Amino acid sequence: MASKLSDGHAKKILVTGGAGFLGSHLCERLLAQGHDVLCVDNFFTGTRRNIAHMMGEPSFEFLRHDVTFPLYVEVDEIYNLACPASPIHYQFDPVQTTKTSVHGAINVLGLAKRVKARVLQASTSEVYGDPEIHPQQETYWGRVNPIGYRACYDEGKRCAETLFFDYHRQHRLEIKVMRIFNTYGPRMHPNDGRVVSNFIVQALKGKDITIYGDGSQTRAFCYVDDLVEAMLRMMSTAPEITGPVNIGNPGECSIRELAEMVIELTGTTSKLVSKPLPQDDPKQRRPDIGLAKKILGWEPKIELRQGLAKTIAYFDAFLSEEGSKSKTKARSRAVSGSR
Ligand code: NAD
Ligand code: UDP
Repeated sequence: MASKLSDGHAKKILVTGGAGFLGSHLCERLLAQGHDVLCVDNFFTGTRRNIAHMMGEPSFEFLRHDVTFPLYVEVDEIYNLACPASPIHYQFDPVQTTKTSVHGAINVLGLAKRVKARVLQASTSEVYGDPEIHPQQETYWGRVNPIGYRACYDEGKRCAETLFFDYHRQHRLEIKVMRIFNTYGPRMHPNDGRVVSNFIVQALKGKDITIYGDGSQTRAFCYVDDLVEAMLRMMSTAPEITGPVNIGNPGECSIRELAEMVIELTGTTSKLVSKPLPQDDPKQRRPDIGLAKKILGWEPKIELRQGLAKTIAYFDAFLSEEGSKSKTKARSRAVSGSR
């Protein structure tokens, strides 16, 4: 894989949304390859904690910035990940979500055009909406409710894809569009409401595990390391390869099966409880990754069980640390209150 510029210099690489779950793992891998990384984030869902271990590195730079505003920097490549990804977070301020995808894409593409950088868009399986075609192939145009609660995310991402392809056709920009399917792993936000983080946190706290609907809806879960590997491969493909390409793990499981696996792996005494199914919740989702195999020579390597075990270990450590922090705070409040 080409990791340096042809003159042997490290590349200067911009990662928008770099303090988020996927972005922080991507920054780490790019640093390990010897690049200079500029991480841009407004900390809407990302955290300092996710990037704290990279802050001291000379090749890592952080800029607090909202991608809905233009950005003037000099870079060789851009990974555009800035956008809240969990339904709770993207529905919190839906207008800002659409702006982040659409204005964010316009700003990032404008930057790429000016500095002649290759640019990769983190698109999503949500462009397929609640699909009638299963598994989903890139040729499927999708079934999205344009006025529903998920539309700010789905339509924002669809419009971003449109912009990427129009910049490619109109300005000959080198673009790479990846449609990412449900991805999980360490550094997911503990309160983002996504199913993997929810179930693990609930199990570790011994709380009820909340199954929305009857739990027969399916998803296919990809471990973060596999996803990042695909991103790096996609970025280094030949200029004529634009995507869109599906990236995900084709191992499909129902939400109930996922809950049972989390219960088994954590050894929790938590019980399953039913909650109403959110509006427009897709009934099934599984990527057809034939194209990714062909153009990237890629397929996921980490089994769900193995990836869940790593994610559980992360949340276990995270919750113990948070628990001891709040105990220390409570103790110091008690001490200052008793003076
Ligand atoms: P995340 O919420 O952890 O990361 C998103 C990051 O973008 C956060 O750090 C957030 O603070 C930042 N951000 C949001 N709005 C911004 C703005 N206006 N300006 C600057 N920064 C902003 O989510 P993630 O799971 O890491 O997702 C990263 C990208 O991958 C997103 O674009 C998402 O749509 C896409 N994606 C993720 C998944 C998945 O399963 N994780 C699936 C499909 C697509
Ligand atoms: N889900 C659930 N319980 C939860 C959180 C989510 O049953 O506590 C379900 C949700 O309704 C959906 C699936 O799990 O059917 C995946 O949800 P997530 O928000 O992780 O991703 P997305 O729906 O965007 O694929």
